[in-house]
Amino acid sequence: MLATGGTIAGAGRPRPAHGYRSGIFSIASLIAAAPGIESLARLDSANVASIGSQDMGESVWRALARRAEEALSEAEVAGVVVTHGTDTMEETAYFLNLVVRSPKPVVLVGAMRPATAMSADGPMNLYNAVATAAHPEAGGRGVLVVANDEIHFAREVAKTNTTQVGTFRSTHRGLAGLVSAGRIHFYGMPVRRHTLASEFHVPARRPLPRVDIVYAHAGMGRELIDAAVRGGARGIVIAGVGNGNLGAAALAAAGAAARAGVAVVRSSRTGGGIVERNVEMDDDRLGFIAADELNPQKARILLMLGLTRTADPVLLQGMFYAY
Ligand code: GLU
Repeated sequence: MLATGGTIAGAGRPRPAHGYRSGIFSIASLIAAAPGIESLARLDSANVASIGSQDMGESVWRALARRAEEALSEAEVAGVVVTHGTDTMEETAYFLNLVVRSPKPVVLVGAMRPATAMSADGPMNLYNAVATAAHPEAGGRGVLVVANDEIHFAREVAKTNTTQVGTFRSTHRGLAGLVSAGRIHFYGMPVRRHTLASEFHVPARRPLPRVDIVYAHAGMGRELIDAAVRGGARGIVIAGVGNGNLGAAALAAAGAAARAGVAVVRSSRTGGGIVERNVEMDDDRLGFIAADELNPQKARILLMLGLTRTADPVLLQGMFYAY
């Protein structure tokens, strides 16, 4: 178990109340709050960070990838569980899904209610995550996210609600499975490349290429796209309106960015559906990349890793169809 903080380790007032701080409790006290968890597996734990996942980023991602690979290379280790805040869990999960080289399971788990809350969801989520990671059929499915009795694929899952315990959803291709009080029911396998079949790895010391996300809206100007280019972005993900669209002023800026060698990926702010090439925008002429099913924050992860291999929009587009 690798702990990073989050609400699952958060402390607040025991009565229904809003204020709390993420990442207060140690991993040992989270384990102690899930009776019977030790009978599922022999647990070794380490603290990698103590943060709310709004502060998650490249340095913790690197540490997690390295620690997970080290642990999974040991013959007696069946799988790794990562405790994590829910805000950016989907980004960490997808990042690890693309860089961890192992057929063994990596399972991310969090909670929507702090550990001190009435009906805290952390202990059961943690119990179910350990049961999932220890299950003999959990391998080969890429990185998984366990919450609210559901098992999600890293590529599919998204946080969709600010406070509800059922916040995680996999709207496109569905769930990896269900887990009820530690009993696992796996469904299909993931459809896209991951982990062992991935071409990506974390570059040793160099920072990942900078990729910014720009959110589109009615009446959008060109200023934020120009600012991203001036600020040194090597890639820009557009959270476009509808099918990844941009109004004329912003489109002119995005076209200029692509001509200057910045990778421009069109995703969507709608939260669902496929962004296809050449629908209302001439991607072939403009040199844009369509995000396919990836939401903007996951498109950013893939583009950062893709840009470590190539800046060619045709090859990058192939990655968006492969991962
Ligand atoms: N901002 C916190 C985090 O992501 C709260 C969300 C949570 O963990 O549920 O760590």
